[in-house]
Amino acid sequence: MAKKTVANVDVKGKRVLMRVDFNVPLEGSKISDDRRIVMALPTIKSIIDRGGRLVLCSHLGRPKGGPEAKYSLKPCAERLGELLHKPVKFTTDCIGVEAEGIVNAMKDGDVTLLENLRFHKEEEKNDPNFAKQLAKYGDVYVNDAFGTAHREHASTFGAAQAMQGKPRVIGFLIEKELKFLGDAVSKPVRPFVAILGGAKVSDKIQVIEQLLGKCDKLLIGGAMAYTFFLAQGKSVGKSLVEADKVDLAKGLLAKAGGKLVLPVDTVIADGFDSVATSVVEGGNIPADKSGFDIGPKTREMYKTEVAKAKTVIWNGPMGVFEKEQFAAGTKAIAEACVAATSKGAVTIIGGGDSAAAIEQMGFSDKVSHVSTGGGASLEFLENGHFSTLDILD
Ligand code: AMP
Repeated sequence: MAKKTVANVDVKGKRVLMRVDFNVPLEGSKISDDRRIVMALPTIKSIIDRGGRLVLCSHLGRPKGGPEAKYSLKPCAERLGELLHKPVKFTTDCIGVEAEGIVNAMKDGDVTLLENLRFHKEEEKNDPNFAKQLAKYGDVYVNDAFGTAHREHASTFGAAQAMQGKPRVIGFLIEKELKFLGDAVSKPVRPFVAILGGAKVSDKIQVIEQLLGKCDKLLIGGAMAYTFFLAQGKSVGKSLVEADKVDLAKGLLAKAGGKLVLPVDTVIADGFDSVATSVVEGGNIPADKSGFDIGPKTREMYKTEVAKAKTVIWNGPMGVFEKEQFAAGTKAIAEACVAATSKGAVTIIGGGDSAAAIEQMGFSDKVSHVSTGGGASLEFLENGHFSTLDILD
């Protein structure tokens, strides 16, 4: 999927409508982590340094289809201004007379951030009229919001469609995502090891099926392992399972042969908050206990597999990593990814909780790529492309 990037477009004097992901965590009106804004800077600077007139749009949080002060993007405009050392204009509505006036008065190198797109329910519905109103702001369309690239919303799809005939390209963040995820899916350097964890098999069935066709080993952790244990007729005690997915898990096990690897031991406890833990053989969990992490033997086994790999994709924690007593499995995988990277492997951490774990441990720069989209990276691994990006140049 070779795509043109914003570097291929002459933006001087042009209005550039760019979809970014400024969905930052907020504490009141304070941004507690500005990483998403910082990550967009290379594309932003490339446009304004070349004299483009940049109109940024994003969503923030999950407003219910109307304005809600707590989801205003104003703090992001202020933070972006600080990072760029220049004022960033802000519109109190993403469409309408005020926004049009501000956009039309922009000069070369100016930046405007539109208020939260999701203050209009039409954004997520990909309403064609709303999309057209956004499209009016641009002579050039840029998408650099990977985290929402799997959704056909007005700002990610309809506006780009409405701008047919004008340059429509990706930004540098999406370029990097496509390079790492795309190469891993289409031409992985082998051995290719995938590690999947998290709470539910149901979220990841399609990915498991896709990856089984491509990878050399698929290591399973997290609560989804217990649904596979049930499918093997083993005991899982009170562990989190999806009983209605047992047949699917059976099917996957049959298809996978030796490729799909399940934990050989499990850290168990009475409950989520118990500090007292013990370790049992995988699939041999007592009736009154629950599994909350992969055990020490599994950690070593998975580390050995990762150490042999030349390509690694990891999505989903190995246990309830939010609790210290159940975090060892997730930490072990993070460390194994760092070690593999230092030996030349390509390691890709697929957004969400695994990205959070890597970041918490300070390892973000010690792996090849931390994806900016959890759901998006899973969908990309499933399908190998996004319709929102297919329509771009
Ligand atoms: P997901 O969103 O599917 O990637 O799941 C992430 C969540 O799975 C995290 O909040 C973990 O605490 C949770 N999780 C991982 N392992 C277990 C487990 N053994 N039992 C319950 N929850 C788990």
